[in-house]
Amino acid sequence: MISEKMYELGSKKSVIREIFEFGKKRAAEVGAENVYDFSIGNPNVPAPEVVKNAILDILQNENPVDIHGYTSAQGDPKVRATIAESINRRFKTNFDANNLYMTVGAAASIHICFTALANKGDEFITFAPYFPEYRCFVEAAGGKLVVVPAQIENFQIDFEEFEKNLNEKTKAVIINTPNNPSGVVYTEETIIKLTELLKSKSKEYGHAIYLISDEPYREIAYDDVNVPYLTKYYDNTFVCYSYSKSLSLPGERIGYIVVPNEMEESKKVYAAVCGAGRALGFVCAPSLFQKVVAKCANETADISIYKKNRDLLYDNLIKFGYKCVKPDGAFYLFPQALEKDAYAFCERAKKYDLLLVPGDDFGCPSHVRISYCVTTDQIIRSLPAFEKLAKEYK
Ligand code: PLP
Repeated sequence: MISEKMYELGSKKSVIREIFEFGKKRAAEVGAENVYDFSIGNPNVPAPEVVKNAILDILQNENPVDIHGYTSAQGDPKVRATIAESINRRFKTNFDANNLYMTVGAAASIHICFTALANKGDEFITFAPYFPEYRCFVEAAGGKLVVVPAQIENFQIDFEEFEKNLNEKTKAVIINTPNNPSGVVYTEETIIKLTELLKSKSKEYGHAIYLISDEPYREIAYDDVNVPYLTKYYDNTFVCYSYSKSLSLPGERIGYIVVPNEMEESKKVYAAVCGAGRALGFVCAPSLFQKVVAKCANETADISIYKKNRDLLYDNLIKFGYKCVKPDGAFYLFPQALEKDAYAFCERAKKYDLLLVPGDDFGCPSHVRISYCVTTDQIIRSLPAFEKLAKEYK
């Protein structure tokens, strides 16, 4: 007999995937240029030229056995040291190779952290709106995901609701800033309040409450907004990073986890991270791309395109009467649906071949996610459709 739980996970497509598949079907019927697909978070900006040059340089100048061989389970020590240096320079931290564990992207990074931490009965808190895969990873690790409702005025943290959900069973809190799906960046004030509360609650309960910072969008932040580096505010922080968005390499599956020395029993926790990596089969991240990201550790794709898209879409949606918190980062807008039922609203949007994702799966009903990592041209062509849709509700 197979696992019912795994069967359920594998046979039920995510809402995002379903809409994306619908978009492809529609494009075959009416032409791709007439379908405004805002469903998926696949960067449309190409990986920068330095990535291509790094690949060519490695292929031409390094030993092929080395390039394609296994690295150590936690990743090539030289790669980890180079990335640690880059983080130290940019965020004034003090990491070395022994603080890093290379992974196949942020999904693996957070799954490893949950698995390294979870004992039976442990609770992991997150804040709506949140990345839906958290539930799947936390439950696979044997923990329970607890969701704090959204503070919809600004999508910062509702501390009153948060405190109600903290208890002795809380093992960790996971945050994602800049956020998918709201695009909001937590302010330094929010981070200080959060980390002070975690310090006092850890003391009260007599055990560490860990903070997991899921940050694939760290570099995608606009107008010089400050994205605080979490280990500087809270010792018991795991940083889960990915190059999927910053270098536009989602298909290459490459990222890392940072376990700082300041963390309580840091060496033991790092060993548990290695153990979780082993248990999940997330060992020895792709060797070629470990080398590539080490060579490109200080680079990003041309993220200026996302800011242009945000401004164009946000300004026009507000003009058409939509209500939306202005996002400072990532590549998502998360406006309120124009009727209570976001599914019904998304169905109506389909009439104009506008493909949006209901907020329910992100723990935030009555909202929709618009993923604007698309061409600026698609946004311009979609504006009349957004306007017509809004007029239906006037
Ligand atoms: N966390 C968040 C908030 C995301 O939006 C994503 C991907 O969209 C991931 C994690 C997973 O990213 P990766 O491709 O690095 O596994």
